[in-house]
Amino acid sequence: MKAVQLTGWESPPEINDVPVPEPGPGEVLVQVGAAGACHSDLHLMHDFEADTLPWSPPFTLGHENAGWVHTLGEGVRGLEPGQPVAVVGAWGCGTCVRCLDGLETYCEQPDLAPVPGGGGGLGLDGGMAEYLLVPAARHLVPLPEGLDPVDAAPLTDAGLTPYHAIRRSNAKLGPDATAMVIGVGGLGHLGVQILKATTAARVIAVDARESARDLAKSCGADLVLAPGDDLAEQVREATEGHGADVVLDFVGSDDTLAASAASARQIGDITIVGIAGGTLPVSFFGVPYEASVQTTYWGNRRELVEVLDLAARNLLHAEKTIFTLDDASRAYDELAHGTVRGRAVVVPHDSFQP
Ligand SMILES: [Zn+2]
Ligand SMILES: [Zn+2]
Repeated sequence: MKAVQLTGWESPPEINDVPVPEPGPGEVLVQVGAAGACHSDLHLMHDFEADTLPWSPPFTLGHENAGWVHTLGEGVRGLEPGQPVAVVGAWGCGTCVRCLDGLETYCEQPDLAPVPGGGGGLGLDGGMAEYLLVPAARHLVPLPEGLDPVDAAPLTDAGLTPYHAIRRSNAKLGPDATAMVIGVGGLGHLGVQILKATTAARVIAVDARESARDLAKSCGADLVLAPGDDLAEQVREATEGHGADVVLDFVGSDDTLAASAASARQIGDITIVGIAGGTLPVSFFGVPYEASVQTTYWGNRRELVEVLDLAARNLLHAEKTIFTLDDASRAYDELAHGTVRGRAVVVPHDSFQP
């Protein structure tokens, strides 16, 4: 089968012919319906060197996957071949407290995981191929009625990550609150929708691109703004001088973090989701009084169930630009240039619904 692989650090992806994996005991072979192309993959290709991460190439890219159960390994029960499923992307040990919480991203026994601190598309073969080998049935969430794998795939990361970040700040997102979303790309446009679907907060979305601001509006943003010197001033003007209760920074550059701190309300949350690598100096007078500065990373299995449920009820919809496996490199190029609308999703061309 064809697979889009990272074969070395600081190198572009390659399309290689690899054998279709055979599921061993407890494993499940999934026929891939779709795999999202994530901005963090660009960091894998361009920014990391040997020894930065506890794993290394070669592996197939794609950590945002959904498809259909194809073959069950020995001993797997509760799933049927042909059943549509989303794949939980982080694969931990399965028995530590974090894993029991479904937060396998933060597995505390990484030596017992299939790969330490990774998963499919992150150290192990991911979903940018016709088939994906999933090491345990617990990593699969059956899709609710009415949701197909192409719609579901981006939700496993681009939907789950903002959902987790928003739930973390839930107590600060009352009806009189304002949430600010910086960066309306793959994650940000879903962040706007999740805020509208799960809170009554007003939503201000910020992006330099007019097309992204239009997308934010169509996703329900109450106000869209372009970044600039007077951004924080405009946010305060729109919030009776208070600022945003919760700022979700889906970019994470020096500029966006400075804008986040300048726009946040006292006792607010500043949540860094994007991994652009910027720095926010935190000091007593450097951020608004009692503001919390936090990072978040991905989400847990239970939250993915909720995200998929929102989507099945048409409260959440990933805007997608579809690419074939052969075109995956172009998907990443467009992602790097900021020209993708919503999420770039790779659909294996000879994939079909069984
Ligand atoms: Zn990702
Ligand atoms: Zn664990």
